[in-house]
Amino acid sequence: MSEAALLAIDQGTSSSRAMAFSSSGELLGIEQQAFESLYPAPGWVEHDPEVLWATVLSTSRTLLQRLRTAGYGVVAIGLTNQRETSIVWNRRTGAPIHNAIVWQDRRTAQRCRELARAGHERLLNERTGLRLDPYFSATKLAWILDTVPGARRAAEAGELAFGTVDSFLLWRLTGGRAHLTDASNASRTALYDIRQGRWDPTLCELFDVPMRALPEVRDSAGDFGTTEAGLFGEGLAIRGVAGDQQAALLGQGCLQPGDAKCTYGTGAFLVANTGERLVSSGSQLISTIAWRLGGRVTFAIEGSILSAGSIVRWLRDALGLFTRSEQIETLAGSVAGSGGVHLVPAFTGLGAPYWDADARAAILGLTPQSGRAEIARAALDSVVYQTCDLLDALRQDDVAPTLLKIDGGMARNELFCQLLSDMIDLPVLRPRMQEATAFGAACLAGLGRGVYGSLEQVSSLWQPNGRYAPRLDAAHRAAALTAWRAALQRVRTA
Ligand code: ADP
Repeated sequence: MSEAALLAIDQGTSSSRAMAFSSSGELLGIEQQAFESLYPAPGWVEHDPEVLWATVLSTSRTLLQRLRTAGYGVVAIGLTNQRETSIVWNRRTGAPIHNAIVWQDRRTAQRCRELARAGHERLLNERTGLRLDPYFSATKLAWILDTVPGARRAAEAGELAFGTVDSFLLWRLTGGRAHLTDASNASRTALYDIRQGRWDPTLCELFDVPMRALPEVRDSAGDFGTTEAGLFGEGLAIRGVAGDQQAALLGQGCLQPGDAKCTYGTGAFLVANTGERLVSSGSQLISTIAWRLGGRVTFAIEGSILSAGSIVRWLRDALGLFTRSEQIETLAGSVAGSGGVHLVPAFTGLGAPYWDADARAAILGLTPQSGRAEIARAALDSVVYQTCDLLDALRQDDVAPTLLKIDGGMARNELFCQLLSDMIDLPVLRPRMQEATAFGAACLAGLGRGVYGSLEQVSSLWQPNGRYAPRLDAAHRAAALTAWRAALQRVRTA
């Protein structure tokens, strides 16, 4: 008798990973394969869908082989993915008609401005919780249909299928039998009415997207089909699907309204559970579906920081301040503070809650005493301050987390964790299971397969391995924030 394992497939922006977990939540193995993004023009970012598929297949196959040798049998697959990235493929051949247009791609900015000028932002926001921005799928999909010769006619004739990355992978995994997505991924397309829980005909018309190209939307834990027998030597049940940030929210055990997590990778994503309450943000955050289970939707509110770990990489590669990312901790910790230096990391503009696409980064407040250490410290501080501003925005929307759970590459930095706790004036918790995104996908698969009976059972698997308590007085915090906001003001264009 083999022991039960859950396989999580995490198809991300820079790599595909397969991870396996035991039913008690232990990590059994990881396989990872990185791939390159394609940059065909300034502001354009694409992935080759065949590369996404090939890396998912090979990492999963290698891990499955290792699991079998170790005496584990996979009882269900959970799938999590880079969100919003859009693919259109031919239903008969399964072949994509264009590269995937990645969430970071800005080619449809002009189209979004036109729609905003025509007064459509409000309707979009009410129905989808999102903003009119190239980030979301709808304008990417329309761009493919308008650009590839014959595509629009073929889509209207029902010959083409559209999907976010989960949907495309489900199609491939099931040998073309499933054209499905889950509610969390659907909520990122800008075509899905998150109150009514259906594709919205008015929005489809507005964005010029034929509804028959869209996948069927299912619960995040449930039946997404069985893998084609030839792929893995046996048919495996796919029982969970969610977008990566939503999966991380679940993997961090943020199951109650007000529970919040922030993932600090290249950028940072703060997401808070708002339960049955759909927040119409007055402070420039977006609302989204966290997951849908048994037909019941849990909502979340979200804000993204465009530059976080990427600042550390910039200090390392462009300025050469250190050779390995983790060395920033010693360097930044060698001084008591940044000595009045501020780094405003608007390298690619500023995300939530500022939304200033044209702002560019600056280092301010330099004196003859400023050196590498002060700049490194200012870099860590800048990610902390941006988190403060996001939490303030959340509070204005009446969402008030009492602690923050964190994960991602920067969460390994102890100094950063402490500075964060000090400035947000909340306890910061880091989980034992650092792979929160994949873990969340595995939890959904376990729920869908009946390995777990409830979300409560899933949340009992979450354990901390780092706890940081705030220890800065209110006056220091307020002064630091005032200085940050003055620096921010110097780079803002809007
Ligand atoms: P992603 O999934 O976006 O690729 P990861 O979660 O793997 O990101 O985190 C990688 C990022 O974290 C990199 O941008 C790197 O600069 C940063 N990073 C890694 N280790 C540290 C550290 N010890 N201190 C600060 N930043 C770090």
